[in-house]
Amino acid sequence: MSTETLKIKKNGHRLNGFSTSDIGDDHLFTGLETPMKKDAFKLSDEEKKERISILFEEIMDVMGLDLTDDSLQGTPKRVAKMYIDEIFSGLNPANKPKVALFDNKYKYNQMLVEKNITFYSNCEHHFVPIIGKAHVAYISSGKVIGLSKLNRIVQYYAKRPQVQERLTNQIAEELKTILQTEDVAVIIDAKHLCVSSRGIKDDTSATVTTYYGGQFNTPEKIRELQNYLNN
Ligand SMILES: [Zn+2]
Repeated sequence: MSTETLKIKKNGHRLNGFSTSDIGDDHLFTGLETPMKKDAFKLSDEEKKERISILFEEIMDVMGLDLTDDSLQGTPKRVAKMYIDEIFSGLNPANKPKVALFDNKYKYNQMLVEKNITFYSNCEHHFVPIIGKAHVAYISSGKVIGLSKLNRIVQYYAKRPQVQERLTNQIAEELKTILQTEDVAVIIDAKHLCVSSRGIKDDTSATVTTYYGGQFNTPEKIRELQNYLNN
């Protein structure tokens, strides 16, 4: 066995007994929390952009692209800015939406459904887009939040390298904490570009994930919710 192979064997992480290459394109995930390093925020956003720009320039250079070309020159900086300020801004808790709670003055005690929230995320296994719709619902425990906040919470967690199951659960956990209730539901219906544009190249499949907490976890409530989503 060559030293090279030995090194890979020694350093290779195994997940449920499978190596990274065994897992291949299967989208496994390891937990509810986005895996972050302890010192994730040691560098400022500006320092991160600087480093990413240098590293991305290297990737382009290794691929043989001519970085002196007018069209490519600005790309490393643009990608770095886009990563930190936009598509991965949800990694930084400082960007978490501030949500104000209000008393449920109208005593509305049925489910509230905010449907068809369009989001763009990125698959953490391939760094290509996940595009989908999220539907979120809750039954007030006496507190309510502004409707746009439901949308903002979805967008915040979408702006991370993600797997759809974790995105679903992270949104649900956040809603439960903010609204002080178990009675929340999250349904996500999304297309993964790593499945449609490459790999198995299936353009028609979509992935659906659900979270039904508390009162939502009954056949009646699920049917009621599905009814609203189908109309
Ligand atoms: Zn993927």
